[in-house]
Amino acid sequence: MVHPHTELRFVNDNIGWGVFATQAIPKGTIIWALDTLDQKFTPDQVAALPPYAQAALDKYSYIDARGRHILCWDHARFFNHSCEANCLSLGYDFELAIRDIAAGEELTDDYGTLNPLVPFPCLCGADACRKAVKPDDFSRLGDRWNALARDAFFRIPSVPQPLWDVLSERADIEAALADPNRLRPIHGHYRLRKAVAVA
Ligand SMILES: [Zn+2]
Repeated sequence: MVHPHTELRFVNDNIGWGVFATQAIPKGTIIWALDTLDQKFTPDQVAALPPYAQAALDKYSYIDARGRHILCWDHARFFNHSCEANCLSLGYDFELAIRDIAAGEELTDDYGTLNPLVPFPCLCGADACRKAVKPDDFSRLGDRWNALARDAFFRIPSVPQPLWDVLSERADIEAALADPNRLRPIHGHYRLRKAVAVA
């Protein structure tokens, strides 16, 4: 479930739709949490789907560390990629605002954290755009992403959290807030595959 202070807006013909903040959202806000209405498909289930459904999953789902395609039921599935994303996850099933997000600003992920199956060109326009998103971006950028998300994680108790009741990992979060050594790094999302070595 995506944060209530967001809405779907049309970006342009190239990008299509995106998710935008309707109010300022502070760093450390849980911006999305996996919930019981989100659908999960194993690789075997994906392979058994008709082509139109596989194409929809390619476009709208992400892949978790177990290789499952996750299809969000709400407008969370319209999050676009940015090489300077303002939302990232640690090793949990939720995403954090990693910096303050202004009203009207688009919320973005780094698709490199979401286990893309194949490389794709990036036209995100960020100053630090890396021009392509690759299945093995995690190996180069994982430590940087982790530091950004970790910094935001410890703001969790200090900012409003309208999605708190949706979280399935509240006890794990509280344990990590009390003992930072228990914080699960972002690398927990990385699905290592043979394809990574040759990508
Ligand atoms: Zn880019």
